[in-house]
Order: sequence, then structure tokens, then C-alpha cells
Amino acid sequence: MDALGRGLLKEFPNPGRAGCPGSEVLRRIASHAMPLAEAEKWLDHLTSCSPCYRDFTELQAGYRQRRMQTVLAIAASILIVVGVAGWALFFKQKGSRGVQTAALDLRNRSVPRGGELNPAEQPLEVSREVKHFNVYLPLGSGEGPYELRIAITTGGAIFTTNGVASLKDGVTSIEAVVDLSAASSGRYVLQIRRPNSEWNSYPLLLR
Ligand SMILES: [Zn+2]
Repeated sequence: MDALGRGLLKEFPNPGRAGCPGSEVLRRIASHAMPLAEAEKWLDHLTSCSPCYRDFTELQAGYRQRRMQTVLAIAASILIVVGVAGWALFFKQKGSRGVQTAALDLRNRSVPRGGELNPAEQPLEVSREVKHFNVYLPLGSGEGPYELRIAITTGGAIFTTNGVASLKDGVTSIEAVVDLSAASSGRYVLQIRRPNSEWNSYPLLLR
């Protein structure tokens, strides 16, 4: 096709431009603006008139360059949008990390027995978005493994995990990763026990 094109550029001189369609027609063919059915009748002329073929190849090169510039401009806008979105997401995550940890302070809570709840006890309040619990155990609690669960008030657990309590600055605490995103908001019971012991229960309000 290249060899054919090079030949076409000079083998059909047409100094008088006899039968030439004019630059507007050539521009529309080169930029694919003319339907093929309409362009068809000019193809014979284009392939047998070197001046028209030269004009056509120049217009086509210009069209391709403009189209490439448009594609590059669109690609650049996409990169900018992606960049800004990523930047916003980064700061959003950075900003909400503090909110995703809940400190549950049981140090001054009365120590309940078994599954019994003290009805006068204010519930602990926790957002369902929370991904991390930091539980401060009642004073005098020992270090070591604990089981932790969140149950509905009639008994069934909706979330269970294990943690190891450690003593730091006179406070025994457990850190646990939690996922409460599937739970509905309402009243629950936070239950904590050492393995094979009885549960200690605390009212919990999921928001
Ligand atoms: Zn021509």
C-alpha cells in the first residue's frame, strides 16, 4: 500500500485539476465525516489524480494527529481524575482510622455474674463502623487468653473472637479486630470470659 501510495503521489499529474471534487469533499473523506456510500464515487478519482491524493493524505495525517491529541487529552483528564480520587481516598482513610477504634472501658463497671445483666448499667456505645476494639478489663483482671463475643440480648452470638490480655501501666487490656458491618443497630451484650469460665456480660448499644 505504501509503494502504491508513493506511486499515486506522482504518477497522475493533473495540473488543471480536471474533475477534482474540491477540498471540502477531501476533508470530509479524510476525517471519516462522509458516509462510505457517498465517498465511494470519489475513490476512482482519488486513486487516479496525484494532486487530490496528496491533499487527501495530508488532510488524513492532520485528522489523525488531532484525533491522537484528543485521545491524549482524554487520557490526561482520566489520569488527573484518578489521581485526585486516590489522593482524596488516601486522606479519607487516614482521617477515619482514629474513628474505627473503640475504647471500651470496663474498669469501673460492676462485675456481673454469669449471663445476668445489671439493668441499671449504662450501655457501652459503639459504632458498627468500628474495626478494632480496645477493651480495658475490670481492675484486678489477669493477663492471658480471653474469649470475647457480642450476643443478642436473648443469647445468640453475632460475633466471637479471642484475644490475649496484657498488663500495661496498671491496666489489663485486650485488643481485638471486629467486624460488625453486617449487624443491625440496637441493643446487644458484650461478653468476656477466660476460657472455660463463666461469661461476664455488659450491655452494648450498636449505632
Ligand atoms: Zn483531483
